[in-house]
Amino acid sequence: MSLPTYQNFIHGKPMANKSKETFAVTNPATGEVIYHVEVADEFIQQEAIKSAKEGFSVWSAMMPIERTRILNKAVALLRERNDELAKLEVLDTGKPIQEADCVDIETGADVIEYYAGLAPTQLGTQQPVGGDFFYTRKEALGICAGIGAWNYPIQIACWKSGPALAAGNAFIFKPSEETPMGALKLAEIFTEAGVPDGVFNVVQGAAQVGQWLTNSPDIEKVSFTGEVGTGKKVMQSAAASNLKDVTMELGGKSPLVVFEDADISQAISAAMLGNFYTQGEICTNCTRVYVQRSVYQAFIDELKTRTENNIVMGDPLDPNVNLGALISKKHQELVLGYIAKGKEEGATLLTGGNAASPASAPNGYFVEPTIFTDCTDDMTIVKEEIFGPVMSVLVFDDEDEVIARANDTELGLAAGVFSKDIQRAHRVIHQLQAGICWINAYGNSPAEMPVGGYKQSGIGRENGVETLNSYTQTKSVYVGMSQIESPF
Ligand code: NDP
Repeated sequence: MSLPTYQNFIHGKPMANKSKETFAVTNPATGEVIYHVEVADEFIQQEAIKSAKEGFSVWSAMMPIERTRILNKAVALLRERNDELAKLEVLDTGKPIQEADCVDIETGADVIEYYAGLAPTQLGTQQPVGGDFFYTRKEALGICAGIGAWNYPIQIACWKSGPALAAGNAFIFKPSEETPMGALKLAEIFTEAGVPDGVFNVVQGAAQVGQWLTNSPDIEKVSFTGEVGTGKKVMQSAAASNLKDVTMELGGKSPLVVFEDADISQAISAAMLGNFYTQGEICTNCTRVYVQRSVYQAFIDELKTRTENNIVMGDPLDPNVNLGALISKKHQELVLGYIAKGKEEGATLLTGGNAASPASAPNGYFVEPTIFTDCTDDMTIVKEEIFGPVMSVLVFDDEDEVIARANDTELGLAAGVFSKDIQRAHRVIHQLQAGICWINAYGNSPAEMPVGGYKQSGIGRENGVETLNSYTQTKSVYVGMSQIESPF
């Protein structure tokens, strides 16, 4: 059976490239190629910019409330097609349907809905200065670009395009080459909802297509999600080309601090969610779990039992499965390499540690949920982002010590504290150098809450009111009401 080939999405419809170059997309749960996608060659790149310029002139001139109505139609379509979209997301990513069904599309739709509501609230100011006055206008930037990672493809496309479109910009999005389908479906939905042609274009391909976007002098801002190293390259070319504005959502190695007065079962739920949800492929994961000495043994005993009894690995389309396949063979090998390093450097393997081949998906890229104990801060598994289902548990004695150890990293994406002492919980979280923090919770990320990293985990924020601002620029207009005083 011949497999379908999908095209780039330009000016409201699929557009054929000239080079005929394509790439293959593999279902990580089966190891089989499921479709092909045309690469955005030079012709497509030129068309994408031409179309976005046209789209921008129409969209930015609309009343914000008109944009609200159109974006809300897209939200309704996303929700209506939730099941179909969730299934496509599972085929691309290998994540369990029980997650995609209620998180990926829903949280994407929530964010677009949130910004659709905010679109007409962008107010300027007016101020008298003597007899004259000035006023300010919030204007869109122009053409913005988004570059996405492969772990939450449709959600990332929604989170980036929602505020950009609400503020009146045109957007060109490049999904990861490993997960190109979600963005194409979002583009179809935007068009069906009435978003004018050219306002949301999708270009496909690997790093060189991302590089073209970051180098393009026609693009005013790039919002990037991916690794720290790639983020640095993106920022460099954004600066060198035309001083583009950047938002950087990068990697993490986040701490979860569990004090002895915490509800231990709740803390274990958080640690498992923050290491095994989406097979551990989440940027905010709490991969360094610090547990106070007096409850350490009880913590790891219950953690081991629950991990060994409650995790169901297998075909991610089976609604009972709660741990899916990693994105690729290469990534599976990388994660297994880290596990080998953990053993080599002296951590104790509490459970897991191997590649897996579940009966319902024997050829998928699975790794068992893995927990290391007796970890120390200098171990590679404790220092580097693994992006797989691998948890490191560490023991600590007192508050100041754990704060210093938790902060001893170049990353600062997220952090969590579990304690029933509310003063301590706030005191500690205020000292942790991270942008996304949870107390007695982990991972929740509502549209209203700004998210982004400290230190090398990022620049700028996604979600929340401030992100809408970051897709606008302020124009000041001074109005003379009196005679101009001039010495000439
Ligand atoms: P990468 O940095 O490898 O890739 C991210 C995107 O950038 C992909 O679309 C990729 O294309 C593209 N790209 C690669 N090289 C360049 C370049 N030189 N210029 C422009 N674009 C380029 O990240 P991963 O896809 O591997 O994603 C995992 C990483 O993302 C982890 O570090 C994770 O922590 C981080 N992440 C951060 C989040 C946050 O909000 N802070 C959320 C989710 C993930 P292609 O893949 O097609 O080659």
